[in-house]
Amino acid sequence: MSAPLHKARPAGQGRALPDTQQGMRRRNLSRVMHTVQDEGPLSRAAVASRIGLTRAAVSTLVDELIRAGLLEELGPERPGRVGRPGSALAVSGRGPAGIGAEVGVDHLAVCAVDLRGEVRARAVRHVPNRGRSPEPVLGELAGLIDRVVAEAEGEGLWPAGLAVAVPGLVARDARTVVRAPNLGWLDTDLGPLLPGKLPLTVANEANFGALAELWLGVDTPRDFLHVSAEIGIGAAVVVDGRVLHGNRGFAGELGHVPVWPDGPPCACGGRGCLEQYAGEDAVLRAAGLESGEDRVGLLAGRAEQGDAAVRRALHDAGTALGIALTGAVNLLDPENVVLGGALSGLSPWLLPSLRSELARRTAGRPCPVSVSALGPEGPLLGAAHSVVRGVLDDPAAVAERG
Ligand SMILES: [Zn+2]
Repeated sequence: MSAPLHKARPAGQGRALPDTQQGMRRRNLSRVMHTVQDEGPLSRAAVASRIGLTRAAVSTLVDELIRAGLLEELGPERPGRVGRPGSALAVSGRGPAGIGAEVGVDHLAVCAVDLRGEVRARAVRHVPNRGRSPEPVLGELAGLIDRVVAEAEGEGLWPAGLAVAVPGLVARDARTVVRAPNLGWLDTDLGPLLPGKLPLTVANEANFGALAELWLGVDTPRDFLHVSAEIGIGAAVVVDGRVLHGNRGFAGELGHVPVWPDGPPCACGGRGCLEQYAGEDAVLRAAGLESGEDRVGLLAGRAEQGDAAVRRALHDAGTALGIALTGAVNLLDPENVVLGGALSGLSPWLLPSLRSELARRTAGRPCPVSVSALGPEGPLLGAAHSVVRGVLDDPAAVAERG
């Protein structure tokens, strides 16, 4: 996920040996971090045997990671004897943190996640962002980011980077929102509008939701489709543990897959897109309800009470999702489909028709459809964790910066 942050020296320009050694050191630092993160607390000897290096080599790497604040030794400290043989190593609960942020149609959210994966600070503001220009929205988001960073710093953490989830298409530069129809944003570089000090990554909320599922979900396969919705419907295609970005970075626009080619016109210029049947606004319209703030809560509440119009609207939305997903499932053969985001709250009423439509139209064993346990939190957590993963993947970059 994380791109190398450091320029590689062109091959054949001398000093090949030091470069190789540097590259190996970086890789080994990452292996130590991942091993302790996955299996810790572990002793130095246990880390050495897990990654197949000598105890002395591991100790050198561990000392460097402790100095950088990325690892810590548990148990009573003995002054002057850092790194005594038996003490267990753990990923530091101080040191770098990933700052995740989300721009939603109705809310802004920010959180700080430490290297252990724990959320240490959090701020959410409910605010109608539809049709608001980027400057005031991101100004407000920057205020929340400052608040969360200050709170995290109060706990001994420091921000290693900022990742922002947006409900729209993001260019491959991972900064520019090309089109966010439900916000009304076009070709907006978020970089200049957010706190400038932090390395920034912007991505579609469905992609961050899928990564959260991959990293935090239980038994998540390496090949799956993650479908999420707010007003719009997005999907992320995960192939062998990586999000498929596509040529321009726009892969996963499930919301604009045609369900009925002669159906109602869509903002994208097409007709009968999935969003026209299963997007929140469309479902509310079909159920005869007004669009308000807590749309999912309204629909779920009415459906629970047995409201026939709402149940029918959700049944039809499930059918439309099943039809649209048929194309994706037949094309990509994923291990399963995960419903995340707002859709997860409506799954009891969407799933029956979705599953039967999908089973009817796909060959062989029906592709299982599950519901994300992360719910609407997925994109925000995925954003913060993407920064944390970046640190674990290349701790040397952070150690040099910090
Ligand atoms: Zn469309």
